[in-house]
Parts: sequence; C-alpha cells; structure tokens
Amino acid sequence: MNVPFVSFKPLEKELDSQLRAAFERVYTASWYIDGKEDKAFEEAFSTYCDSKYCVGNGNGLDALMLALKALGVGEGDEVIVPSNTYIATALAVTYTGAMPIFVEPDMRTYNIDPTKIEEKITKKTKAIMPVHLYGLPCDMDPILAIAKKYNLFVIEDCAQAHGATYKGKVIGSFGDAAGFSFYPGKNLGALGDAGATITNNKELADKVRALGNYGSDYKYHHIYKGNNSRLDELQAAFLSAKLPLMGKVNENRRATAKRYLEGITNPKIILPYVPEYAQPVWHLFAVRCAQRDQLAQYLADKGIGTNKHYPIPMHLQDCYKDLEIAQGSLPIAEEISATELSLPMYYGMTNEEIDYVIEAINAFA
Ligand SMILES: *Cc1c(COP(=O)(O)O)cnc(C)c1O
Repeated sequence: MNVPFVSFKPLEKELDSQLRAAFERVYTASWYIDGKEDKAFEEAFSTYCDSKYCVGNGNGLDALMLALKALGVGEGDEVIVPSNTYIATALAVTYTGAMPIFVEPDMRTYNIDPTKIEEKITKKTKAIMPVHLYGLPCDMDPILAIAKKYNLFVIEDCAQAHGATYKGKVIGSFGDAAGFSFYPGKNLGALGDAGATITNNKELADKVRALGNYGSDYKYHHIYKGNNSRLDELQAAFLSAKLPLMGKVNENRRATAKRYLEGITNPKIILPYVPEYAQPVWHLFAVRCAQRDQLAQYLADKGIGTNKHYPIPMHLQDCYKDLEIAQGSLPIAEEISATELSLPMYYGMTNEEIDYVIEAINAFA
C-alpha cells in the first residue's frame, strides 16, 4: 500500500464542481484583483474566525509582516517568536527591520513556553508572536498577561491552525491581529499562494489593506511605502468554495489523529500531547523518535510518506548566521528538530490507510 504524506485529491473530488464553478465565475466576470470574490471571502473568513475584519493578502508571510508593520514595528525593535516554527514567522519580523528574539518551546506542546518569555523582554521588545504550531493552540492566557504587563502587541501566527480553539474560543483574535496562510498544504488551502490578516481593530485593518496595496488609501494616492500583497479573485473564489467544508475537514483530521493516538503503542514513539485548554486541528501529526531518520527511511520503504518539521532550526540556518546564536544555545528547538517526524495527515484518509501506518510504526524495532 502507498500512503502519501499529503494528498489534496479527496477534498478536490468532493468539491470538484464548486471549484470549477469558482473558476468559471471569475473568468466570466473577467475581473482578477480587488473585486467581489475577495470581499465575499474576507467577510466569510472573518465570520469563521469570529473576528470583525479580514484583509486578504498574497500569502501568510506577508500577512504577518504587514500586521507587524501596521502596528509600527520596525528598525530597532525586538519581537519575541518561538525558537521552533516555520522560518516565515521569523522572516516576517526581519522584513520589518526588527529583530526576532527566540524563546524556547514547551517540550510537551512544542509551542512557545510562556514561562520563558519574560526573561527575554528588553526595552526594545514591541510584540510577541505566538505560533499555534502543528494546529495546536498556544497557552494564550499567560502570554496575554505578559503582553499586558509590558504593554506589548500580540500577533498570532495562525498559518497552521484555522479553526482551532483555545478554551472554547477560536484562535486569531486573542491578540491585536493574526496572520493566516492558505498555502495549498494548509488546513484551508488555496490553489496557489494566498493569505489573510484578521483583527478587531478597524484602523489596523485599513492600514494592513493599504500596506498590501502599495500603501494606497485610494487610487494613485500613496500614504505609505507599501507592498503589493493582495488576495486575487481566483484564489478568493476557490477559498470560498472550500471554507464551508472546514468544519468537516477539521473533524476528519481529528478522527484520524484519534485513531493514531489510540493505535500507536510503540514505546519508541512519543505521541503528541493535547492540553485540556486546546482543541487542535491537526495540521500535522507530529511524533518524536530518537531514531527519527531510521524511522523515516523504514516508513518510506513501506510506501509511507513522512516529513520533518523542521529539520534545521531557524537559528542554525545560513540566512540567520548574523544573529550569532550558537549551536546548543536553544537545546529544545534543536532536540525537536532532530527527533520530530510528521505522519501522513490529510482530509479523506481511509481507515485502511491509517491502520497501515499504525501497524508499520508499531512494528518498528
Ligand atoms: C506556512 C506558514 C507561514 C507562511 O505562510 P505562506 O503562505 O507560505 O507565506 C507562516 N508561519 C507558519 C507557522 C507557517 O506554517
């Protein structure tokens, strides 16, 4: 049997006529940027996130960067980010001219450890960017308390957690703003690059929109030196076709995760931990194993696709050599990097496929 790491086919099959109709609608209207599809998706997505405003962007990295810029974060500032996340989180900070400051995660949740944030706060700190990694919400209450105490902005990186809830409330509006990615592989994925910023602050929403549209408030009038990062009509139309299925998509991922959690019994495998406060959406099903690379090869030989998230921690990437953070100085991020393996996880996996993965892992010696 072959079980790919990810497949879009089951969802695309189910939505085939809606996705084709979305294309037809946009092509027939012959209007491709800044139109009614974008507006309709923004409205639907802000409702889905229980947030007042949504601004479509070109991708998730831009959404995060524009939110930071709109809040005035820039040169000379510091922004706290987790030491284990996709590099886009840190790059969003770097692009504003500010400095990403890495805080180690909690070894059980893999999310930023709130007890380690305060020691990294300086006079330059402007914001905290919690990342709901792998689809698991961060412990927001202590993070928000620290932000309040030091008067810091909170920008949630929701790229992996569309629809996840923390203490019953959907993530994305705990802080000042949040960035989402609709990269095809995300839980809500476009058929290309796309992203969005959400916020409850009208002024901030307007500023993000202007910053993503050449800094323009109305046509050919530029108040900021902006970027070009808008959600195009085609992607908005595809996203609108997929959004109504998000409840079902996340339920299906939860059922797959439950089957993995109950079925995998190999003591060499450390399974993901779900704190009581969180209802995750399982963007990834991340296990850890001391013999991670052997496990990946063993599964590959059995036709099972896996991935590592992420094989090199950000502080050891060539592009961040200038930060001069030595190997060994962020041991938890390094440990996760060396031992994490993501198992197949996507909407529409069959029980036979899940069980094939479980049996293979349980037989790994
Ligand atoms: C995917 C991702 C991003 C960036 O989104 P893009 O749409 O690829 O730019 C940011 N943060 C995290 C945690 C991600 O997984």
